[in-house]
Amino acid sequence: MNICVIGSGYVGLVTGACFADFGVNVTCVDIDEKKIEGLNNGIMPIYEPGLATIVEKNHKQGRLTFTTNIETAIKDSLVIFIAVGTPYTDNGKADLSYVDEVAKDIGKYSNSYKVIVTKSTVPPGTGMRLKAIINKAQQDTKHPFDMVSNPEFLREGSAIEDFMRPNRVVVGGTSEQALAIMKDLYRPLYLLDTPFVMTNVETAETIKYASNAFLAMKISFINEVSNLCEKVGADVYYVARGMGLDKRIGPKFLHAGPGYGGSCFPKDTEAFLALAEENDVDFKLVRSTIEANNKQRKLAVEKILSTMGSPDGKLVAIAGLAFKPNTDDMRYAPSIDIINALQDMGARIRAYDPVAMEESKKVIRDVEYVDNAYDLAKGADALVVVTEWNQFRNMDLKKIKDLMNEPVLIDLRNVYAPESTRELGFKYASTGRL
Ligand code: NAD
Repeated sequence: MNICVIGSGYVGLVTGACFADFGVNVTCVDIDEKKIEGLNNGIMPIYEPGLATIVEKNHKQGRLTFTTNIETAIKDSLVIFIAVGTPYTDNGKADLSYVDEVAKDIGKYSNSYKVIVTKSTVPPGTGMRLKAIINKAQQDTKHPFDMVSNPEFLREGSAIEDFMRPNRVVVGGTSEQALAIMKDLYRPLYLLDTPFVMTNVETAETIKYASNAFLAMKISFINEVSNLCEKVGADVYYVARGMGLDKRIGPKFLHAGPGYGGSCFPKDTEAFLALAEENDVDFKLVRSTIEANNKQRKLAVEKILSTMGSPDGKLVAIAGLAFKPNTDDMRYAPSIDIINALQDMGARIRAYDPVAMEESKKVIRDVEYVDNAYDLAKGADALVVVTEWNQFRNMDLKKIKDLMNEPVLIDLRNVYAPESTRELGFKYASTGRL
């Protein structure tokens, strides 16, 4: 089967590479010429563990190709995945302009029956809208096509594993022919007994938003619990553990911190709320989730100030910049807000992240970057752990303390044991721990 994936970012590239690994012929398309040129020369546009190996292998074996030529890719493919971005607009709604552009191209270049699959996260109703756009863009000859929604649930940092062994695959559509083709495409996952949820397009689109909003709500919930823990002498680590062992709750997404970030939760919660408002549904929980998250970022800065005092003229060392470990993605990373706030108060910032420093340079100004945690600590007046990379868990804290100007450690991700860290002589603050 020949397929193409339009948009070769985090989702498109992983999707394309994994389907190629299943034995399908995949063309990955992007409008970014530099990205495609790089991919053709073995240069990965993103950091994602395991991705380079699988891309290189399938590219060499001829099953995975990269192009900017959308026309040929569409003409040669039975299945067309749309995996372009759907960022924020000012009113919180998803910006569907990239998706719409692709739909126009699909209509324009279609030459036979196609299955058009939205992998991008799009509000319910988008599938039908795209159908109308494609129909309108088809010129003299009308070629048949079917719309399918197949939202993606991969997590950056473990994207390959998530794609190859997903908790579930959601497929929305009504055409039997299209659904049979989708089943064929995902056959290797069927063999692994992966649960498939087959439903209509609108339901599939909604499952994605509801899932992300729920996970974001879980994070905001434990963050608010951590704020309460700090007032009542409770330890959020044990509260989360005690809650998470209840199978109805589960342990995941119960780690208190400086608030969620990344390319999905912030925009998807906003878009879900905007969708609810548009439909006269008062979605209080999603609204509160967003508000709690915005507040948590401010509280993280307040915690830094209350621990180190005024940062004016002081050197603050930031450990971790990416929105979470194992990715170089800086989109809506808490580090951005924290660094901007500290700089506004006169702090000098030094930072280290194992992979996100190049991306960080594009969005944060006036930061001194160093290559390891020990250079980070040298002469610093405070060290703030913003992203819980494993590298920071294994640091020699005694050495770190000796290198610092002031032994102030603000552990926003609860990486260290409070008691032993204090015993080393640190002035130590956590998120909701004793
Ligand atoms: P991204 O920004 O990394 O990649 C999007 C790519 O699309 C870019 O390379 C861009 O150049 C390309 N593009 C834009 N317009 C194009 C066009 N007309 N033709 C060809 N290429 C075009 O985005 P992403 O993180 O991969 O997200 C894509 C979608 O998947 C979004 O809707 C997102 O919400 C959703 N999603 C993302 C994740 C994630 O973890 N990143 C997980 C699940 C779902």
